[in-house]
Amino acid sequence: MEALTGKSPSTYCADNSLYLPSNFYHMSSTWFRRNKKGILTSTEEKKETPDGLWHKCPKCKATSTVKELHSNLYVCHQCDYHNRIGSEEYFEIIFDKNSVKLLFENIVPKDLLGFEDMKRYADRLVDARQSTGLTDAMTVAHGALHGHGMVVACMNFKFIGGSMGSVVGEKISRAIDYCIAHRLPLVIISKSGGARMMESAFSLMQMAKTSAKLTLLAKAKLPYISLMTDPTTGGVTASYAMLGDINIAEPGAMIGFAGPRVIKETIKKDLPEGFQQSEFLLDHGFLDFIVDRKNLRSKLFTVTEWFMKSGAAAVQA
Ligand SMILES: [Zn+2]
Repeated sequence: MEALTGKSPSTYCADNSLYLPSNFYHMSSTWFRRNKKGILTSTEEKKETPDGLWHKCPKCKATSTVKELHSNLYVCHQCDYHNRIGSEEYFEIIFDKNSVKLLFENIVPKDLLGFEDMKRYADRLVDARQSTGLTDAMTVAHGALHGHGMVVACMNFKFIGGSMGSVVGEKISRAIDYCIAHRLPLVIISKSGGARMMESAFSLMQMAKTSAKLTLLAKAKLPYISLMTDPTTGGVTASYAMLGDINIAEPGAMIGFAGPRVIKETIKKDLPEGFQQSEFLLDHGFLDFIVDRKNLRSKLFTVTEWFMKSGAAAVQA
């Protein structure tokens, strides 16, 4: 980057593209010729260059340092593209510092059916655990937001595509029990490719299980906020993701049941512009609002506080 930006402006054309002098190829032979053989820098003199120092936005191609990206909550500074992040990052964004306690980490998925496709499901689970350091596609945490308790259950797309298996359902179920026992609001952050096919009907049963459990939370007058992020699809959309007291989404997130190609082939019609994106869903009444990641903390606080106060009043009445 430095070589392209800082050194010699005269080597640029008006449109900022790089101008190469006619004798470039002659010059380049001296520029790139190694004068001294071998690597001469001693280990002590070497500068630490962390992996992935630069990040390129997949939408507008703008570059930023990973540090800048982190301080901007993984949102592109130029086009507002919300990069996909996992539970660890969301907990850091939402909760007060040092208030996070992970729950139900002892629940881990099992290959109940001895399922095998390209690979054994049991091996897939071992690989996913090793590569992500996670126990499953759902991580639940109890933390504080401006000092007020809250439970956030967040999906991880990097764990087998954020697929909903028995563990996802069980963790949501226990998170709901925990919220009722401690009178806390629940936030579920969805990010999923749908049901976990390797668990067959067991994964589909989670749709009914989580939906039924959410009615218990409603009966206890406790709020459930559903935050849909890119992508939220399949059985997750068809169950808990769309059942929030408030359904919200991040900008530009793909949210739907079946993919656009399947729908197009079924209805034999072209799909409208922006179909299955947050903004389109908001216009068609599926969402209550879209929240930019930088406002997520304050919005969640405002909404849950309002519900908790009116819920407490309803319980006392
Ligand atoms: Zn961008």
